[in-house]
Amino acid sequence: MKSVAIIGAGITGLTAAFYLKRRGFAVTVYEASGRVGGVIQSLRRDGYLAEFGPNTILETSPKIAQLIRDAGLESRRMDPDPKSEARYVVRYKRPIEMPGSPLGFLTTDLFSWKAKCAVLREPFVKPRRDGVEESIGQFVTRRFNQEFLDHAIDALVAGIYAGDPQKISVAHAFPKLKALEDNYGSMIKGQIFGGRERKKRGEVAKDRAPKLSFDEGLQVLPDTLRERLGEAMKLNTTVTKLSRTTNGWRITTSSGESDHDAVIYCGTAHKLAELKIETGSQTLDLSPLSEIRHPPVASVVLGFKREDVAHPCSGFGMLIPKIEGFKILGCIFSSSLFPNRAPVGHITLTSYVGGERYPELASLPHDKLFELTCEDLRLLLGVRGKPTFQHCVFYPRAIPQYNVGFGRFKNLMNDIESKAPGFHLAGHFRNGISLSDSIVSGINVAESLSPS
Ligand SMILES: Cc1cc2nc3c(=O)[nH]c(=O)nc-3n(C[C@H](O)[C@H](O)[C@H](O)COP(=O)(O)OP(=O)(O)OC[C@H]3O[C@@H](n4cnc5c(N)ncnc54)[C@H](O)[C@@H]3O)c2cc1C
Repeated sequence: MKSVAIIGAGITGLTAAFYLKRRGFAVTVYEASGRVGGVIQSLRRDGYLAEFGPNTILETSPKIAQLIRDAGLESRRMDPDPKSEARYVVRYKRPIEMPGSPLGFLTTDLFSWKAKCAVLREPFVKPRRDGVEESIGQFVTRRFNQEFLDHAIDALVAGIYAGDPQKISVAHAFPKLKALEDNYGSMIKGQIFGGRERKKRGEVAKDRAPKLSFDEGLQVLPDTLRERLGEAMKLNTTVTKLSRTTNGWRITTSSGESDHDAVIYCGTAHKLAELKIETGSQTLDLSPLSEIRHPPVASVVLGFKREDVAHPCSGFGMLIPKIEGFKILGCIFSSSLFPNRAPVGHITLTSYVGGERYPELASLPHDKLFELTCEDLRLLLGVRGKPTFQHCVFYPRAIPQYNVGFGRFKNLMNDIESKAPGFHLAGHFRNGISLSDSIVSGINVAESLSPS
């Protein structure tokens, strides 16, 4: 039986280990911390259910439903309340619902006529074919206009990456948008004509993909996979060194050494940069990976009495462009999505602070974070009174930024794999940052290993 070491018990590593075990491999999962799930963190307290990392999985691929089925979690799956579809973007210091139809777009207050005309003109803007890598900011101002960047895309980039649109690469962070321009000459034309091809591949566009969670939050998924893995899990065990042996790899951890036929690294890029990998006479230099930026983010979850919030908060949440001058990056109306996130008569709001926009704010003491979040929510949603629940988690290195130039890191990762046979890399630092990308990456790497 082939033995595989998996480094990291975030969702990528757990998914890979789960499927390898099902295929008959002998797996061992090494996790540096004392818990599974990585950035996924759900907390049940005082009748509230708070999520500090991801809030939902986007079902962009049939592989997500496959994992839920294979893990035996279908009965615990929770789909959001169908009434929670609305999304808001802040403009003129108030949340405005995003239009859901072409007519809604033409009549919304969210954009001026100039911006609306820029969208109507987009199919006639010449595609760029000179191969120069652009930021999403450059791409959007070229194809639409500055207003569209400042009042929509800036907020979206903060909401997904906690990133800076002038730095985030359109090719690496939004490859599907770039492909629309490359293949159809326009994003609007591509949206219209590309749907059929996506359907053929069984894929769903991220903006249309169903969202899901579980009865006790997303932590249910890693906890269940951990149960299925049983003895294979080694918590509080940091892998510090890998050395190539005649038939495979020797792993050095904080508690000793062990030999495996193959190794899959599913940790973080900054920890990978510190890992020592010896392949016979060579030691691989992974240190450039430490240059991948990971801005800090604080997740602030607050509960309020329903009557203490003026806004109905029915919908997914609100995105906040920098130009509007608020400190929080955005807010998810968590108990509108999943009513079991708050006791009856209360609501739960999950806000994010920091990112590339205001990195210095993320590490403020918790009382300051609660204060600044309450102040923004007071102005935006008419929140008054004291929160009935408050909890905050600080992620010092939250999300890898796929900035312009990210290709050199991808090349380095490809190079490492080619110089280190039997050593594989998977996860959010390489194949897309979302939970669904991470799950698919875990499944793909597990399927790529041959049992013989
Ligand atoms: C605040 C926040 C909000 C997010 N919101 C969403 C969302 O709503 N929807 C969405 O789709 N995605 C979201 N994401 C992104 C998504 O959650 C992550 O990209 C995904 O969970 C990453 O999973 P992973 O397993 O690849 O990595 P991680 O979760 O980072 O897990 C890596 C694990 O590897 C371990 N490790 C690292 N090095 C070693 C070593 N040398 N030895 C042993 N163990 C090691 C770490 O301790 C860690 O447990 C969010 C992320 C954050 C931080």
